[in-house]
Amino acid sequence: MRYIFTDRFGGVSKPPFDTLNLALHVEDDFDAVLANRAILSQKIGTQNLQFMEQIHSSNVTIIKSYDDKAVPQTDAMITKQKDLALCVMVADCMPVLLHDGAKEVVAVAHAGRVGVKEKIVNKTIKRMREEFYCDINDIKIFIGASIKSCCYEVKRDVVHGFENYLEIREDKIYLDTSKKCLDDLMNTGVKMENIDISPVCTCCDKSLFSYRREGQTGRFCGAITI
Ligand SMILES: [Zn+2]
Repeated sequence: MRYIFTDRFGGVSKPPFDTLNLALHVEDDFDAVLANRAILSQKIGTQNLQFMEQIHSSNVTIIKSYDDKAVPQTDAMITKQKDLALCVMVADCMPVLLHDGAKEVVAVAHAGRVGVKEKIVNKTIKRMREEFYCDINDIKIFIGASIKSCCYEVKRDVVHGFENYLEIREDKIYLDTSKKCLDDLMNTGVKMENIDISPVCTCCDKSLFSYRREGQTGRFCGAITI
């Protein structure tokens, strides 16, 4: 198994996508993104980077073979295929990578506010257990940098479901999606020792793309291969 979380360095894109933008849908130069994806291929060790057309859903797709088109309308993928890397693109949402070393299964999930609310990581684990008989104690979870409660100010109309994960500062509401995601994982039986979560906030750390900080910007990536 090999996995990686990229940052914004080492690519060829021009501002505001500088430099290692991996997303085609953000109006960056097409050839630059392909060159950046080739750099990711080198790092992860396969040319077959499986992307998905992320839509802030909790849809989970089983990947049976590599497709050079992004998987439509899904925010999590699971595979047992060895010749591809699953990729999740983010710029503030949580990039979540999962690995069952016993059954040789890997998965990714795109966990933004909506995904966390709909428990997309729990749903991914449920599908791993149903489809591949994964044991929850064998699943290791790697969560990359995302926007944290220091910066994630939200309007009152989106707090439903996050009542225990709000911070109020100077009459503003901030959301702690990381904490909710971790609590939901604990509640489904994942042990904390099997979770590795980055403490880094994308909006604070300028080595990462942040939609909240920059608006038009690139996407960095979590990628995992068996
Ligand atoms: Zn922050």
